[in-house]
Amino acid sequence: MDTNDGGTASPEPEPQIIGLTGGIGSGKSTVAKFIEGLGYPVYYSDIRAKEIVNDDPRLKEQIIELLGPTAYDSDSRYNRKVVAGKVFGNDTLLDGLNGLIHPAVRLDFETWKGRHHSPLLFKETALLFELGLNKECDNTILVTAEDNIRMKRVMDRDGKTYREIEAIMDRQLPEKDKLKLADFVIHNNEGLTELETETEKVISQLAEAKS
Ligand code: ATP
Repeated sequence: MDTNDGGTASPEPEPQIIGLTGGIGSGKSTVAKFIEGLGYPVYYSDIRAKEIVNDDPRLKEQIIELLGPTAYDSDSRYNRKVVAGKVFGNDTLLDGLNGLIHPAVRLDFETWKGRHHSPLLFKETALLFELGLNKECDNTILVTAEDNIRMKRVMDRDGKTYREIEAIMDRQLPEKDKLKLADFVIHNNEGLTELETETEKVISQLAEAKS
């Protein structure tokens, strides 16, 4: 068999980008881990956002320009408490900060994407629909559970109070609105075994559609 392709090997097909989202305590990180277990790469936007405020020197400079030098400690680490205090109740500053962090995360995702070779790449983001990031995805998966179940799971996980969790829920799009926007939905009102089975079903549908 002639294996010489004359240097014209067909380029790798573009991966499909799948947005993975869900409200606080819905179980999206748990689903993301199941997806990784199935061999697909997952980009964790919210974790990366927390890392790049420290690792990206350009972003760091821009944040200091916007919020002043106290946004970083004397050891040059991002001071989440100080920043939260500055942007709390100040929409201009909050929008300004998001306007710096979100494009930096988008760029970081593009770099990550270039390093991973898989037909399906997953991007886990809490505010996928709220920020309109679903428009940059080929498909979206919503992980959803009843509010009281999410509340209990987060209380158990973080020790946050009911009011604290409620305040976070209030800043997120209600489940009924997200359900209308998602391409695939994983219901997570039962146990972890059921969640894993549901995840596998959705991923095999996506993989089949791609092949
Ligand atoms: P957040 O937005 O707050 O990061 P999340 O959507 O990523 O939350 P997870 O961290 O995956 O949610 O899940 C919340 C908590 O609930 C975790 O402690 C997780 O182990 C637990 N959990 C998730 N799904 C189930 C389930 N089906 N049965 C039992 N516990 C679960």
